[in-house]
Amino acid sequence: MFDRIGADEYEQVVFCHDRASGLRAVIAIHSTRLGPALGGTRFYPYPDEDAAVEDVLRLARGMTYKSAAAGLDLGGGKAVIIGDPATAKSEPLLRAYARFVESLGGRYITAEDVGTTQADMDLIRRETAHVTGVSRELGGSGDPSEATAYGVLHAMKAVARHLWGDASIADRHVAVSGVGKVGSALVRHLVEERTRVTVGDVDPAALDHAAGSFGVDTAPVEKIHAVDCDIYSPCALGGALNPATIPELRCAAVVGSANNQLADPSCATALARAGVLYAPDFVVNAGGVINIAEELHSYHRERAYANIRRIYDTTTGVLARASAEGITTAAAAEELAEGRIDAVARVRLIRTHARG
Ligand code: NAD
Repeated sequence: MFDRIGADEYEQVVFCHDRASGLRAVIAIHSTRLGPALGGTRFYPYPDEDAAVEDVLRLARGMTYKSAAAGLDLGGGKAVIIGDPATAKSEPLLRAYARFVESLGGRYITAEDVGTTQADMDLIRRETAHVTGVSRELGGSGDPSEATAYGVLHAMKAVARHLWGDASIADRHVAVSGVGKVGSALVRHLVEERTRVTVGDVDPAALDHAAGSFGVDTAPVEKIHAVDCDIYSPCALGGALNPATIPELRCAAVVGSANNQLADPSCATALARAGVLYAPDFVVNAGGVINIAEELHSYHRERAYANIRRIYDTTTGVLARASAEGITTAAAAEELAEGRIDAVARVRLIRTHARG
């Protein structure tokens, strides 16, 4: 375990157990160099403990990069609760989990993720203040999906400007894979922008809902990545860009909300070789974390959404850096994040020596 967490320089991994409620959770803090480690709690029926640990480690590190690239004073962390949320979730279990979050003294701040809801965050709030995404009545910002979709839209505009010299996506064709919370909000924005949209989803109900609500075309889910379009937008699960799908892409660019879109790092090079411009996922999908970060100093929607619109500039900067340095866009985004962490964390070495 120390070899694994040492290789990517994780600071802390906490195993939380409460026999009475059945709680088995792991909290991973990758980095607090820029600020407290913020990241959601995933409640998922992992096949075994190793799978849970691997997932939480990967996700926590991703949050470090996402917040750093978004210009936030936040580090990266994530938590997983092992179990099926449909059967294992209970008030005592969530409150026991919240006590462990509280015990970290603010080094880790939680939020919702796959398998947890805003109502769960409200319950967690009763045991700890170190939680975001609570309901608006409790001073929170609510579900971050709409903010995430708004950020993806602005990343698409940056890509349009980079590729076609005009930020407008009117009359472009976007294929969206996954029309859940983020994907459906994105489709609504795209339709408002007069973009042509094709959607695909494994869930026929989600597909019917999107097609019916927005009057967009549909494609079979196994073919959605291969639709001939301007932008392919993966908004379902991770790994959408892999050795099987990349050769079948018929788009000029990929811009989507899904986390961990590249099945492995070599896929970034494969995309570049295929002539597809990849807008790095953690830059594109930072709208949600930018929105909930606003909760930490009293939520103000206009201020949050103004910050989310800056994803346009961040994306533009990453694409320009990749072109200038002859590196992949994924490498350029990582350079941006790592450069900011090193530069900003270093200023804290300037001592003040104030005595309180
Ligand atoms: P969601 O569960 O609401 O929606 C996911 C949708 O994808 C569902 O409709 C599901 O049926 C569909 N789907 C599942 N497997 C699929 C497949 N193989 N092909 C096509 N569709 C498939 O989730 P969400 O909150 O909309 O998040 C979507 C993605 O964006 C996830 O990867 C998530 O980690 C990422 N993300 C979400 C947020 C947020 O604010 N919700 C923020 C950052 C990143």
